[in-house]
Amino acid sequence: MNLYVGFTGSPLDRIEPVRRDAEALATLAANPAALLLEMEDYVPRVANGGLAWRPFTPLPPEQILLLGLIEGIPRFARIDPEAVAAKRTPELMALLDNLSTGEAGTYATARSVLDWHARHRFCANCGASSQPHHAGWARLCPSCGTEHYPRTDPVVIMLAEYDGRVLVGRQPGFAPGRYSALAGFVEVGESIEEAVARELREEAGVIATSVRYVASQPWPFPSQLMIACIATLADDVVTLDLAELEDAKWVNRDQVAAALAGDADAIFGAPPRYAIANSLFRAWLAEG
Ligand SMILES: [Zn+2]
Repeated sequence: MNLYVGFTGSPLDRIEPVRRDAEALATLAANPAALLLEMEDYVPRVANGGLAWRPFTPLPPEQILLLGLIEGIPRFARIDPEAVAAKRTPELMALLDNLSTGEAGTYATARSVLDWHARHRFCANCGASSQPHHAGWARLCPSCGTEHYPRTDPVVIMLAEYDGRVLVGRQPGFAPGRYSALAGFVEVGESIEEAVARELREEAGVIATSVRYVASQPWPFPSQLMIACIATLADDVVTLDLAELEDAKWVNRDQVAAALAGDADAIFGAPPRYAIANSLFRAWLAEG
């Protein structure tokens, strides 16, 4: 099936070699067709249903983030040296919900890198102030010479399946009625499958007998890689960790379909379309 996954499918050609080539970068920056992504406080301006861009005008090198090419046209964003870490607001999420997944993907790339700069101003090795480097895709410490790169934190998100039903859980901060797939950060030294099994055991006390990968998604709040899986369980006996989840329940395909359709009598509210949990539910339905 052709699975819809939010924040994927950006048309950006990232032209990675140009980031390390000052001459090629200067040529792109001098291109009269070059464009700058319009953002204010990490919120993109939207025009005609897509991201808004304006003509790129010269910036100091340490403020340049080269996003890449779209339709052969150089695309940039500005690294604001005064910026503070980004926040996520309901208004922003509503705005992103109305963008195509590819447009949201381009925004996600820019946001995650810009937010990383705001959160990583100092060298983790020696503590000196560092500077953007490689067209905004790294930071360089002038004191000890260490290069630092934007981080991506892997998170597993999984449906636990037993006998035609899946387990959905509810975290305390969720919108009223919302249930979703269980999730957790992959720890150092773990495989994806091991992280899925551990999280299911810790949060719901269930034992996974097999784990299969479904899809992945960059999640720019601030910079996770969401790895969606379906786990098969040994049985359906749940022991909740109430510090992680306030409730969990078993739902069948009809109940998931009703939730995804937004039916008034659905027994839970599904996650929004841009969240990979939504894609995961759709993938599971398609299997049935
Ligand atoms: Zn240093």
